[in-house]
Amino acid sequence: MSLSLSATQPEVPADADEGVWLECIECGETFAPFADVRYTCDDCDGLLEVRYADLPTFDDFEGEGVWRYADALPFDEGVSIQEGATPLYEVPRLEDDVSVEALRIKHEGMNPTGSFKDRGMTVGVRVASELGVGRLACASTGNTSAALAAYGSRGGMETLVLLPAGKVAAGKIAQASLHGARILEVDGNFDACLDIVQELAGQGEAYLLNSLNPFRLEGQKTIGLEILEGFLADYDTVPDRIVLPVGNAGNTSALYKAFRELVQAGALDESDVPKLTGVQAEGAAPMVEAIENGADEVRRWDDVETRATAIRIGNPVNAPKALPGIRETDGTAVSVSDERITEAQRDLAREGIGVEPASAASVAGLRKLRAEGIVTRDERVACLTTGHLLKDPDAAAAAGRDPEPVPADTEGVLEHIRE
Ligand SMILES: *Cc1c(COP(=O)(O)O)cnc(C)c1O
Ligand SMILES: [Zn+2]
Repeated sequence: MSLSLSATQPEVPADADEGVWLECIECGETFAPFADVRYTCDDCDGLLEVRYADLPTFDDFEGEGVWRYADALPFDEGVSIQEGATPLYEVPRLEDDVSVEALRIKHEGMNPTGSFKDRGMTVGVRVASELGVGRLACASTGNTSAALAAYGSRGGMETLVLLPAGKVAAGKIAQASLHGARILEVDGNFDACLDIVQELAGQGEAYLLNSLNPFRLEGQKTIGLEILEGFLADYDTVPDRIVLPVGNAGNTSALYKAFRELVQAGALDESDVPKLTGVQAEGAAPMVEAIENGADEVRRWDDVETRATAIRIGNPVNAPKALPGIRETDGTAVSVSDERITEAQRDLAREGIGVEPASAASVAGLRKLRAEGIVTRDERVACLTTGHLLKDPDAAAAAGRDPEPVPADTEGVLEHIRE
């Protein structure tokens, strides 16, 4: 199977372009990468993956940020606003409290628009310009639209974003708006927005930059590469486990692909591959359901609800890539309540790390799995925090302390703080 960790390097097909091609994960059909616009397989509608004739090892990486990993990407450079190279924070108190050998926080909120989506867009928008498309579009719970708006304008292209009305955090709409996207507020949830934008893209109205687009996931692979390099530098070994929030499961798929490619290149031992551990909110947990039931397919949830709006998704489009990733790495998936998510948001804030609710799901999930003994005391763990606190100021204010009204004189203020 092409998505197995022990898959061997495929033969280079005739339609490859400078050693790069697209391959269907279901039927194996190959396609030229930049000749036409295509999101899924012409023959069976399966998901596509980008393949390379030559895969790099750690020694081939040079420079900083996403484009440090150019040898693992379809181009040498992209439409860039200096994305990637995010901090891998130490959190000594939280590490003690959770009780693991090592805990590090990979804070993707430190990207240019405040989420990991920038890593995918720097590559995706570069591909869009190669294809010569004029208008870019996405459905979004918010962060994809912020990133698309910024990278689209940087690349000089028109952008169109479809958002679920009333369900997008304030910071994200503000970004999409200022960067000049046309914002269409849809009277429906994220999954309905994605259905519509896929149909628009199918009719040639716009180039789709959701994570169904295989090129976006190439950029997101670099999260995994940075985490591995960071752990190798600090602990001389890769992490035992990477815990991440799951919405459309793009990151889960991208990290798994990064690991598979390193294994194929001989840069990583199959037995050392980190256990991919996905976390969803209880009100939107179709991937967790599929993992728990040992199912090959994910059942679409029509009604989803959670405070973690970035992962309020009932139909994870990348499930066919992500399920093998979780299973082949011996990982798991777990759901957490909104209350636990908010507590984890406070845990991180106490260490000085400000994240939006969806991001905190990773830490909440780690706590739950540690309490259940599924994560053990001797593990070195990386938690991915996907977006910045300022993305969702209302959630942050609700989780934090309330402001206290005081009179406008020193005596009155002193009296108040001594109370
Ligand atoms: C997009 C997003 C997610 C979901 O990521 P997937 O790759 O779709 O699973 C999680 N958290 C935040 C903050 C996001 O913006
Ligand atoms: Zn196919």
